[in-house]
Amino acid sequence: MAIRNLRLEGDPILRKTSREVKEITPKVRELIDDMLETMYEKDGVGLAAPQVGILKRIVVIDVGDGPLVMINPEIVREEGSQTGDEGCLSVPGKAGQVTRPNEVTVHFMDEDGEYYELDGTELLARAICHECEHLDGKLYIDSVEGELHDVVNEEEEEA
Ligand code: ZN
Repeated sequence: MAIRNLRLEGDPILRKTSREVKEITPKVRELIDDMLETMYEKDGVGLAAPQVGILKRIVVIDVGDGPLVMINPEIVREEGSQTGDEGCLSVPGKAGQVTRPNEVTVHFMDEDGEYYELDGTELLARAICHECEHLDGKLYIDSVEGELHDVVNEEEEEA
């Protein structure tokens, strides 16, 4: 496993649409391992493959309940809304208010090729929405309400 370099806002790769994963090759598994290691190293709650420069539809998330690996995730249901501060490992040291669904259902495949349907609420719903947007070249700063502010607390959650 290895820590990968994070792509930061302004890097054009973050604005590109990622491609579907057709086959879980050893290279894909290595990428997933590295993404998890990088997310934990940077104290993030989520990371999407384009953030390490790879345009594949893969995200990893851990909101404190253990790692989730989602390949080709697709949000199939959104309900309610929540407004709160959000950050991103590609926009270090900043946070801003974003309104997201309070509840989502997501379909995805794991690293063993098994298909899952998962319901997420609150922080997990927020993280799923945030990471899936990365796969379509969107950043949370596109939908931020008001100004970004500096994060002084190092423990602020970033995705
Ligand atoms: Zn992000």
